[in-house]
Formats: sequence, structure tokens, C-alpha cells
Amino acid sequence: KSLGLDDSAELLAAHPDGVKTENVIEVKQLSKVFKLRGALGKSTDFKAVDDVSFTIPRGTTTAVVGESGSGKSTVARMVLGLEKATEGQILFDGVDITTLNRKRMFDFRRRVQPIFQDPYGSLDPMYNIFRTIEEPLRVHGIGNSKSREKKVRELLDQVSLPASMMRRYPNELSGGQRQRVAIARALALDPEVVICDEAVSALDVLVQAQILNLLADLQSELGLSYLFITHDLAVVRQIADEVCVMQKGRIVETGSTDDVFDNPQQEYTKALLAAIP
Ligand code: ADP
Ligand code: MG
Repeated sequence: KSLGLDDSAELLAAHPDGVKTENVIEVKQLSKVFKLRGALGKSTDFKAVDDVSFTIPRGTTTAVVGESGSGKSTVARMVLGLEKATEGQILFDGVDITTLNRKRMFDFRRRVQPIFQDPYGSLDPMYNIFRTIEEPLRVHGIGNSKSREKKVRELLDQVSLPASMMRRYPNELSGGQRQRVAIARALALDPEVVICDEAVSALDVLVQAQILNLLADLQSELGLSYLFITHDLAVVRQIADEVCVMQKGRIVETGSTDDVFDNPQQEYTKALLAAIP
């Protein structure tokens, strides 16, 4: 319904029987080992993600927080299906995404959308805003040029950007506006899960708050589930229901955001909290 398009690309549920599980995503004992090439052709194993487990209850936000290099983006890329896990499982609607055939993987990519950090880095500078947001619709063969333009206008409205932005290019927008465009593009395919990897980290605090409010509004309006990845605990407090604290590839503490903030158990978490300005 929400696409408002002739929806020829029929949606498959990830689960063959169309089951919707309580946790839209469940990550179980996920690990990632990178082979690092050293001198003299020797290679060493480096475990960037080590035995990571968490869930995203449908319609809620789970945050993964940790310092730079702790393995957050590697987790994000594995959950997006962009990087293969060395060990463990990623269940989407109870189905391990590594077992999906090509057609179901294509469908999975439609239902789980990313928003990355740097709006310059994630938007193609050669694409104007219309083409940027229309692209996923074209790739998935949805609608015709007229219905797609209508959809792009609706999406711009949803992220509170004027339709006149359509003919502009990313470099002609502010950082906050570019991130709104990235959100509109992520919503184009009516996803269920949005993976935000440092999605507000490049923005100043005032614009950060506006984008976080927009994400929260869209969540309650559309029933979205978020995996929210950030190095910034202050941001976690504003958006997350549950938080996982990552250190050197491992989750060292996890719980509801209120519990972790009010009653941290680990020294590492206490140190992170003490560092919030
Ligand atoms: P974060 O997002 O928390 O900053 P990353 O997931 O980007 O951390 O990286 C975690 C660790 O894995 C880092 O030490 C990084 O250098 C390493 N790493 C990430 N991607 C690769 C790769 N493709 N090959 C080798 N090492 C990698
Ligand atoms: Mg990262």
C-alpha cells in the first residue's frame, strides 16, 4: 500500500511461510576473521568481530556503540549481507540470510536498507537528488517513470525536503539535507529494517537532534526497526531502546538503554559514560 505503485515486484517474505518473528533480526555468535597480509608473504588472522549476539525486536532500535576499530561497521556490513560472516548466524524473520537463494537475497536487500555516515561518501556526486532517490526503485524494476517521480516527491515530503530539491546535486545541500536525502533513498523500497552506521556522526549537535527526531518519527509512522551504530553514547541515549557496548570485537555489556546508562556494570562502559561531555 505504502509504495502506491503498480507493485509488479511481488514481495517475498524472508520466511518461506511468511512468518514474522518477534525479533525481526537476530544475530547469533557472529564472528569475522580477516586475513592480514604481512611481510614475506606471511598472513595472520585478525578477529575483528568475536562472538557477537544481539536481537532487534520489531519496531525498536538496538544500538551498537564502541570506539573506533571495535568492529561495529563490520557487524553492520555482515547484517546487510555485504560481508560474509566467518562464524555465526544472522536470522531475518527467523531465516538465516546466508541460506537465502538469489531471489530471496534480492528481496532481503530490499527490506534491509543502509544509511551510512558521510553524506558525501554515500551519495553519488554525479546524481541529482531525483536520480539518487529514484535509483533503488529503478534497480528493483518498480513502477514507470511517472509513478517513480510521484514516489520521489512523496519521499522528499516524508523527510521534510521541498520538491524543488530534486534537481539539485549533493554538493548544493547542507549536511543535514544530504542525510535527509539518504534517508529518503533508504525508504524508497519500504524497508522493514534500517541500518544506520554513524548516520548522524558528521553532523553538528543541533542538526543531529533534528535527524534523530526524524528517524524516531519515521519509526513510529512506518514501524521501522533500526540497528543504530555509533561511537557516540549521547546519541544512543536519544534513540536506542537496547544497547550493546563493543570493545575489541566483543560485546562487553548489553541491556536496555536506561539500565546501561543508570547502572553500568563494566569498567569500560563506565569510562565511556564518564567521557560524555
Ligand atoms: P568500527 O566501525 O568500530 O570503527 P570496523 O568494523 O570498521 O570498526 O573495523 C574493525 C577492525 O577490523 C579494525 O581494526 C579494522 O582495521 C579491521 N578491518 C575492517 N575491515 C577490514 C578488512 N576488509 N580487512 C582487514 N581488516 C579490516
Ligand atoms: Mg565504523
